[in-house]
Amino acid sequence: MTAAAREALDAARDRLLSDGGAAPDVPAVVADITEALDRRSGTLRTVLNAAGVVVHTNLGRAPLSAPAREAVSAAAGYCDLEYDLAQGRRGDRDARLAPLLAQACGAQAGIAVNNAAGALVLALAALAGGRGVLVSRGELVEIGGSFRLPEIMAASGARLVEVGTTNRTRAADYEPGDDIALLLRVHPSNYRVTGFTQTPTVAELAAVARSRDVPLVYDVGSGLLADRPEPWLAGEPSVRGALDAGADLVLCSGDKLLGGPQAGLLVGRADLVQACRAHPLARALRLDKLRIAALVATLQSHLRDDLAELPVWAALLADPVLLRQRCERLALRIGGEVVEGVTVAGGGTAPGAEVATPVVRVPVTSADVAMARLRDGDPPIVVRVDADRLLVDLRTVPAEADDLLARRIGAAIAVAMA
Ligand SMILES: *Cc1c(COP(=O)(O)O)cnc(C)c1O
Repeated sequence: MTAAAREALDAARDRLLSDGGAAPDVPAVVADITEALDRRSGTLRTVLNAAGVVVHTNLGRAPLSAPAREAVSAAAGYCDLEYDLAQGRRGDRDARLAPLLAQACGAQAGIAVNNAAGALVLALAALAGGRGVLVSRGELVEIGGSFRLPEIMAASGARLVEVGTTNRTRAADYEPGDDIALLLRVHPSNYRVTGFTQTPTVAELAAVARSRDVPLVYDVGSGLLADRPEPWLAGEPSVRGALDAGADLVLCSGDKLLGGPQAGLLVGRADLVQACRAHPLARALRLDKLRIAALVATLQSHLRDDLAELPVWAALLADPVLLRQRCERLALRIGGEVVEGVTVAGGGTAPGAEVATPVVRVPVTSADVAMARLRDGDPPIVVRVDADRLLVDLRTVPAEADDLLARRIGAAIAVAMA
């Protein structure tokens, strides 16, 4: 209660400092306190992300597109999740999603589960069971949020058979072991070995897998659907690229570069997908109706080739001229300057996936105080800090929010200067 009152009074003070005008009357302050209390009810809050990380895991990764939000809302009540409206009888939960997944990925078949970690556990449990899985020592990585490949493999019951070394693995290294069920390749995502390194191409690995008569399973991570020309995405494997190069089953996340809800996709050979679908873990890891709705809408945006509809891609491909104009306007209002910076793709995509971007840099007497004030308001605002300067990246901020952002930053700076 005290904290809510303080928040409402601080907000009123911020408004006075930045806009001038009359102080709010008592009923208005009471209404603000009630609102602040509601906000403290424990539910998730909308945050304005000006931190320069597009897929920000701490801020919920990919924001959903407008069609995905509408689809979630439509599915939130009773819906035809497993009901065939034409026949008036029980329908198939997978009927919408599975064909779309296959089509969007150019694969024979696909299913989606809780997340990419779940997809990997399922694939290993269904396709390897207690048998051996060959993995390069260079890919035994931890990908943040306690995704450690050896632990995931142990949880699935598969037996890890390490090949190669941390920095160099050749196709010929994938020879040892009896009772091998599959070859696994994992994109190291946010980690890179440089210098004296060697990794077989996917096509080379696929050839080894074929010669051993086992499938090649490839966890590409980000959910980039097809190779793209942007130089900052060089080296980021795509789902279609992996399938075209000969991977039999490709796994990825739904809420990184796919730009949808949290999910793990498994796409590829129909018999392998069917084996995964039939495994009991598929039921334990299945998606709920809200995420099915969001994922269908997200895949439809990809199929329409309407990337701009997806906030992740709208941010990554934002027009640099418009972005600079917005930054200049903001800089003028808050007394900052526009400097060259970078937006990072984030969320475990290529470590070098950084897009050059103008950012607004504004000096403050206490960055901690200013940032705390920005986080404390409604909506909370997250920016980056560089010594005693705030760095504001508008790439991930909807243009409609520029005015609010300017007012809030102006007030936070005033407080930090006081
Ligand atoms: C991010 C990532 C994961 C984990 O994905 P979640 O959807 O968070 O489970 C797994 N593998 C790779 C290669 C990744 O980049």
